[in-house]
Amino acid sequence: MDFTLIRYNQLLKTLLAQGFEFQLFSSFLKKPAPRIIILRHDVDRRPGNSLKTARIEHNLGIQSTFYFRAVPESWDEGIIRKIAGLGHEIGYHYENLSVCKGNPDQAWDDFQANLANLRELAPVTTICMHGSPMSRINNLDLWQTYEYKTQDIVGEPYLDVDYGKVFYLTDTGRRWNHAGASIRDRVDSGFDIQIDSTIHLMDLAQRGRLPDQIMINTHPQRWEDRALPWVKELVWQNVKNVVKHVWFKT
Ligand SMILES: [Zn+2]
Repeated sequence: MDFTLIRYNQLLKTLLAQGFEFQLFSSFLKKPAPRIIILRHDVDRRPGNSLKTARIEHNLGIQSTFYFRAVPESWDEGIIRKIAGLGHEIGYHYENLSVCKGNPDQAWDDFQANLANLRELAPVTTICMHGSPMSRINNLDLWQTYEYKTQDIVGEPYLDVDYGKVFYLTDTGRRWNHAGASIRDRVDSGFDIQIDSTIHLMDLAQRGRLPDQIMINTHPQRWEDRALPWVKELVWQNVKNVVKHVWFKT
């Protein structure tokens, strides 16, 4: 089985053994190290899995960045505080424009209110768009009207990273860089590297075939060691992909 926490732990150990440093997204923006990995976690739901992920990383001396949505299935204040307490970065996984049905003024108010609430729990200096797969609205469009930098936000992974230099990997669709599943999680990549599985990714790392700067985007709810939730997640992913496919083709 791929996409288990056991496999994730092996992946991190492999990358550490290859001499990669791990940088918080905010630290990368301030001063990018020459050979680094940014671990970016989108906590779409099941925050308990994010806490498990955070602990695995902490035990390996790795820091990463977790983006929480302002919805009950993601926003768990106890977990947010615990993850921050392990030295990880907390960011806001925003979806204001789709929640506010495309109204930018309402979305901007909603953005500022949720950001203030999250800052009650942990320092927040970066944000990341939630793809809102069931909505036709692109949450990045809020920045055609407003500027997040006025709110002491230093960066957004979709807007402040040059993916011609940073190799981007996402687990959307429970595959690495699966083109069919990641309509909004995609970036314009400057690399043409096919990753077939996590084992393949580890193999490329061991053979020194990975670029020097990499952002790995994971959704921790997809990484599961127990068989039943793993199957449920796989089925749910496939249902969503079919819906997305039909939705975006019309
Ligand atoms: Zn998301």
